[in-house]
Amino acid sequence: MGFVKRTHSCGELRVADAGQQVTLNGWAHRVRDLGGVLFIDLRDRTGLVQLTFDPTLFPNRSELRNETCLSINGTVKERAEETKNPKMGTGEIEIVVSAYSVLGTAKPLPFPVSDEEQMQSVNEELRVKHRYLDLRRPSMYRRLAIRSSLIKRIHRYLDAQDFLEVETPIITKSTPEGARDYLVPYRLDSGKWYALPQSPQQYKQLLMVAGIEKYYQIARCFRDESSRADRQPEFTQLDMEMSFVTQEDILTLAESLTIDVLNGVIEEFTLDKFKIEPFERLSYDEAMHLYGCDKPDLRFGLRLFDLTSAVAGTEFGVFKNTLEAGGVIRGVRYPGGAKMSRKEINALDEFCRELGAKGMAWLAIESEAGEGSTILSSGQAIRGSIAKFFKPEELEAIVKTSGAESGDLICMIADSYAAANNVLYRLRLEIGQRSGLRDQRVLKFCWIVDFPLVEWDADSGRWSPSHHPFTMPKEEDLIYLDTDPGRIRADCYDMVCNGMELASGSIRIHRSDIQARIFKLLGINEETQQERFGHILEAFSYGAPPHGGIAPGIERMVMQLTDTENIREVMAFPKVGGGYDPMMDAPSTIDAQQWAELGLRRS
Ligand code: ASP
Repeated sequence: MGFVKRTHSCGELRVADAGQQVTLNGWAHRVRDLGGVLFIDLRDRTGLVQLTFDPTLFPNRSELRNETCLSINGTVKERAEETKNPKMGTGEIEIVVSAYSVLGTAKPLPFPVSDEEQMQSVNEELRVKHRYLDLRRPSMYRRLAIRSSLIKRIHRYLDAQDFLEVETPIITKSTPEGARDYLVPYRLDSGKWYALPQSPQQYKQLLMVAGIEKYYQIARCFRDESSRADRQPEFTQLDMEMSFVTQEDILTLAESLTIDVLNGVIEEFTLDKFKIEPFERLSYDEAMHLYGCDKPDLRFGLRLFDLTSAVAGTEFGVFKNTLEAGGVIRGVRYPGGAKMSRKEINALDEFCRELGAKGMAWLAIESEAGEGSTILSSGQAIRGSIAKFFKPEELEAIVKTSGAESGDLICMIADSYAAANNVLYRLRLEIGQRSGLRDQRVLKFCWIVDFPLVEWDADSGRWSPSHHPFTMPKEEDLIYLDTDPGRIRADCYDMVCNGMELASGSIRIHRSDIQARIFKLLGINEETQQERFGHILEAFSYGAPPHGGIAPGIERMVMQLTDTENIREVMAFPKVGGGYDPMMDAPSTIDAQQWAELGLRRS
């Protein structure tokens, strides 16, 4: 037989179909030649079904290798009771093959496509090099299907809210989002370059000036920055912008969209997740104070505490010196951590040192006195090399502030506020992880609001935007523009889930005078303003409406839904290493004629 179109899909056949003649198309997922009989699990995108071949009918079986593409004809038969496989959707039946044809032969495979367990140890570059094989795995198909469902639901949701989908250019001018641009040479004028958009930020603002009012786009963004588990050179955002809205309107819309869309996907794919609840809200300052970072994992408590006043009069040298230098003593509680061995506590100390701490001070709270422990009036005993440096009332104050109970370990860092937070935020996550508090089934969302407008960048000796240069300062803080810019808060917000930033957005500056003042603060002089942003400044002088928006990352949402920590696992064709695509071998060299046409010369 040649290619005959399928009558059924592999995954849909059941006992009720027994006796039916079927034609199936798919791939030989797993071939088991037992001599007396040949079994093949045939796979298509709906699932697997077992085929049985009578070897006397098919003596030439060597072409039937794993991943061969097949068309088969056969009869559905109920399996004998003892051979039924409850783990397979089609496990109660098999297909007795009467004829087949090979639609595409398969060479020996670079990795075992059908063996999920062995695939765990396959080198990632090899997987990406043969991505078309890697994607044949049902687990990879499922991730792409989840992603596709998410995007479809977004379209449906925003369509119902009267949003207009507008596509914006890919070859364009630099749109600063804090990363390096990818540049594309312009053939007709060799000194000129396009930049790929880091996001459609300026276009969407221009669309607001254009009166679109409600815009969205599933937009590709390009950022040349060092790779990380949650970063790729190109990624996709749900980019949104609205006119005549307040920050509250945007948060409400983005929150209900997220809840609706994600709960829909969770239900459709019966994902092992609890329903998403309304979001918590924290100001940037609160988040830093309570969790040491602006993307807290709120699946668990363990808030940081500040011991600066509890130990204000301490004679303990390390703490005293830090306080005198204007630093802080902050800490986090490790529930049940008191039972750790010295070696384990030293490893935790090392963990903090690797993050830049000078060391981690600790106190173990025990219910019974041990050797060298100090007894508090509560009856609790405190152990720890630094306990002897504190007066009993200081120890009491530390324990009280920390909220520690018997069995807990109090971990403390003495440093500047920012440096202590930077260590404690990660230490808190580590403790949460070790204590099993980061439940994968929970998706705990929060909004972080009131970000500072700018941050001091010591390397360049300038203020740099916390979000991007188009973010609106809070009106009441504009008074600090010339005197204390670090105090200005912005109408800027992040959506955070389980410790990951899923979206950023802001109300934008829509007045050219304020925009020019912010550019000036950022050290962008008038000439550069005109050269780089003249178009947007001019647009703002033709009746620009107040507007704002947000842009959730699609991959990051899918990562949360699929418990994936690596962004590459939720993209069809990711890059590896420093932005390399081993399948296409990109980037690659260009030929002499292309060099010449572009007017480029190798240095
Ligand atoms: N353009 C911003 C970003 O990519 C999102 C926004 O402000 O809407 O982070």
